[in-house]
Amino acid sequence: MLPATTDVLIVGAGPTGMALSIALHQAGVKHLLVDKNETSHTTSRAAVIHAQTLDTLRQLGVSDAMTAKGLKLAKFSIRDRDKPLVALRFDELPTRHPYLLMLPQHETERILAERIARLGGKIHRGVTAGEVIQTEHGTVTMLTQAGREQSVFARYVVGADGMHSTVRESAGISFDGAAFESSFVLADVEMDWPLGNEEVSLFFSPSGLVVVAPLPDGTFRVVATMDDAPEQPALADIQKLLNERGPSAGGIVVKRAVWSSRFRLHHRLARTYRNGRLLLMGDAAHAHSPAGGQGMNTGLVDAVVLGEALARVAKGLAPASALDEYQALRRPAAKKVLGLAGRLTALATMRGLYRRRLRNVLLRGANLLPAARHNLEMSLSGLSRAELAKMPALTSLP
Ligand SMILES: Cc1cc2nc3c(=O)[nH]c(=O)nc-3n(C[C@H](O)[C@H](O)[C@H](O)COP(=O)(O)OP(=O)(O)OC[C@H]3O[C@@H](n4cnc5c(N)ncnc54)[C@H](O)[C@@H]3O)c2cc1C
Repeated sequence: MLPATTDVLIVGAGPTGMALSIALHQAGVKHLLVDKNETSHTTSRAAVIHAQTLDTLRQLGVSDAMTAKGLKLAKFSIRDRDKPLVALRFDELPTRHPYLLMLPQHETERILAERIARLGGKIHRGVTAGEVIQTEHGTVTMLTQAGREQSVFARYVVGADGMHSTVRESAGISFDGAAFESSFVLADVEMDWPLGNEEVSLFFSPSGLVVVAPLPDGTFRVVATMDDAPEQPALADIQKLLNERGPSAGGIVVKRAVWSSRFRLHHRLARTYRNGRLLLMGDAAHAHSPAGGQGMNTGLVDAVVLGEALARVAKGLAPASALDEYQALRRPAAKKVLGLAGRLTALATMRGLYRRRLRNVLLRGANLLPAARHNLEMSLSGLSRAELAKMPALTSLP
């Protein structure tokens, strides 16, 4: 039996819902975390955790467990087949975590779930949230578990329920944007890879972008755009993709696909993150291309900031209007991420020989300028958005 009342109902126990639950546990705020899935995700999806995310997640006590499990990489390069265009390094950035941390999403989720359990919390699985109704005094949500319905009263409801958010729909908040034309293919493969396992490589190619990133278990994550991708791309599809878009000198031998899938992705941003007592975060609030690996990272930081804002309001330390601070910080952060991922995707998939040549000349030029490289390193690592991850001091709140 679920409790009938709570301070905060979190709908969705993906990475962002779990992170918010940890923040609220630590602050001593009563809440209920529900997810319609009976089990946690087993697919890897997001594979990189950036420096600023790890810096921020230190507040939740999970960064050390993540860094202990992940593979730390210093290098990220952008290439046009054999031509290196931009070579970035993360090992001199101003952070406690000067690297790209490769860690499959299911591992990240396992670490977050373990932290919830250690704090005495619980993820209520197999519980589907329906429409949320709000009044001046609170919200009522219908929850369905094993065919039984129960309503729960909460002061606030957070939609951490992904792209197709029910909470966003209940709040009547539009999700402006569109779907990408191409499908994305994602695969974790065992392979011989001529560039080794010390860098993440983003390849530009007229037939689409491809990212190859080493994972901690010795496999490689391959993410690529592909028109008319099959539902479950086979070894031969991944091999062909890499042959056509990766280094041309050969030596790429894809031996086994641990997991592969096709995704339709969107670039969208919720028009607002708050409607009264309903709040959005993570994929429910923003969706973008996986170029640059920013999706989950942005959502995890949303969760920490929202956790602080909700804790202040729930404990009576700040008025409800302090929740607007959350949106004032995190919506601009998502806008910047959408711009970055969109620019990378547009550059990567540029067609026309002359335009591509001009792009390459410009990028090589930028690569020679330390300031330009530093800007891109700061954007990708999230460090350029660090100010958008900090709630203002209590005294300066409205
Ligand atoms: C192909 C691909 C590659 C990606 N690569 C990267 C990457 O490299 N780096 C990166 O940072 N991000 C990446 N992402 C994005 C990342 O996976 C998402 O940003 C992340 O999972 C979002 O977390 P979330 O908690 O907001 O939502 P989700 O992970 O979608 O979780 C939402 C949860 O809500 C639950 N739910 C939904 N509706 C209800 C309901 N009505 N009632 C109860 N529960 C409900 C669902 O069961 C789910 O568990 C990638 C995504 C894809 C698809």
